[in-house]
Amino acid sequence: MTQTAPNATTAAEQLFASMDPRTGEVVAQHPVHTEAEVVDAVASARPAGEWWAGLGFEGRKARLDTWRKILVGKLDEFGALISSETGKPADDARTELALVIDHLHWAARHAGRVLGKRRVSPGMLMYNHSATIEYKPLGVVGVIGPWNYPAFTPMGSIAYALAAGNAVVFKPSEYTPGVGTFLASTFSEAVPEHPVFQVVTGFGETGAALCRAGVDKLAFTGSTATGKRVMAACAETLTPVLVECGGKDALIVDSDADLSAAADATVWGGVFNAGQTCAGVERVYVAEDVADEFIALVTKRVQKLKPGGEPGADLGPITMPKQVDVIRSHVQDALARGGKALVGGPESIRPPFVEPVVLVDVPEDSKAVTEETFGPTLVINRVSDALEGVRRANAGRFGLGGSVFSRSRGEELARAMRCGMVSVNAVLAFAAVPALPFGGVGDSGFGRIHGEDGLREFATPQAVTRKRFSALLNPMTYDRSSHTVKNVLRLVRMLYGR
Ligand code: NDP
Repeated sequence: MTQTAPNATTAAEQLFASMDPRTGEVVAQHPVHTEAEVVDAVASARPAGEWWAGLGFEGRKARLDTWRKILVGKLDEFGALISSETGKPADDARTELALVIDHLHWAARHAGRVLGKRRVSPGMLMYNHSATIEYKPLGVVGVIGPWNYPAFTPMGSIAYALAAGNAVVFKPSEYTPGVGTFLASTFSEAVPEHPVFQVVTGFGETGAALCRAGVDKLAFTGSTATGKRVMAACAETLTPVLVECGGKDALIVDSDADLSAAADATVWGGVFNAGQTCAGVERVYVAEDVADEFIALVTKRVQKLKPGGEPGADLGPITMPKQVDVIRSHVQDALARGGKALVGGPESIRPPFVEPVVLVDVPEDSKAVTEETFGPTLVINRVSDALEGVRRANAGRFGLGGSVFSRSRGEELARAMRCGMVSVNAVLAFAAVPALPFGGVGDSGFGRIHGEDGLREFATPQAVTRKRFSALLNPMTYDRSSHTVKNVLRLVRMLYGR
């Protein structure tokens, strides 16, 4: 049995090509899996999942550790594949893979501790029972992923779902099917017996079919618009969903911030991966009294960065051609409403590449402030102080991550932000800490990948009590005496009423 979808190589199958966005060359052909094939994949995943669950935490850990070592052995090959399907520079792909490996290690190592059976206190009233809780696998988890971090992002679901004891059927983005197939084929080297982790490839219809194929949970990462469609499809069968969507993350610069560090982080967080980062820096609110100095530092750094497809380029192309129009419209809208371009402008948009653009004093109701741009553009707006920056950051409909630069009150400002994750005096640090949950609020979605919450997301708790001996006072029987409830209430008043 293979770990690509069943019937994946029938003669009549339709194929589609993944392309290198730097050159337009075809990287490879992949099957467009039909609805029937997706249903077959989920059906064959079910017994495979039961076998996988039966291995227990230690058995699964051994297999996941083997997979991790296989991936580490193929880092160069895997990184080159990521670069060819996304266009991102080699070092960006390698950085992504370093995080993948760290998360895979963490999930395998901690699943037993987090999800395994443990005793809890039965409480005073149920002292004659023992009480245990255990997090059981859900069965088959469907994962739908985006192209911007085609390994790191879906692995936030895949690694944690597998460690929790589930089988996984993964539908990668149509732009990065090879990355998904690479993950599944390397997994099958570590787990050849059963199709525990399968990949189905194709377009949005294949993803939609996965939502309706009878999976026990659907973990979606992508745009908010598609997330709503996924939820609607899953609602038909009451399939639970995890929805990780877009963001419009803000970085706040306080008056006492280390401005050089803040500028470095701003440029990296905004331009890394050509700005195609869900929790990347899209807007900056800088305290008025340090704004000139900060903006000068950012401008100087950004001017040195050049996009390109050649080795050594600082940023790659825009992977998804239609995103170029979104970036252009946001830049034009910002300028038309009175914003100023300090670096670049509409002329920076030369598909498939976009040179970094720095916009300042952009009205808060312009698209460049309210909508996800997903390009190497930075909006920097001056605010009276950092708290005003937090207020503006919180005004949007997204709430994925954020960053705060402050020497004296970083954590206080972080707590005031309405979002799922904040880095103080850094950007995106939370994504690289496997023990921390990753996810947002508002239009950025709900549910969590990574960390203990990410493991529990792919498991269902089962509570068990076991009666150890008969209680002196048992009100839960028709054999109770007339005094039993009275005595129980007396106990409750004595214990909890004072
Ligand atoms: P999309 O929403 O366009 O697509 C995401 C996935 O959904 C793709 O695999 C896509 O397939 C699939 N899909 C499309 N239509 C349907 C449908 N009707 N039913 C089921 N699946 C469907 O997002 P992008 O791939 O463009 O990714 C970029 C977005 O992802 C950004 O908004 C970004 O912020 C967000 N993102 C969020 C992250 C987070 O953790 N919160 C992390 C990374 C990205 P196909 O590609 O074949 O159309």
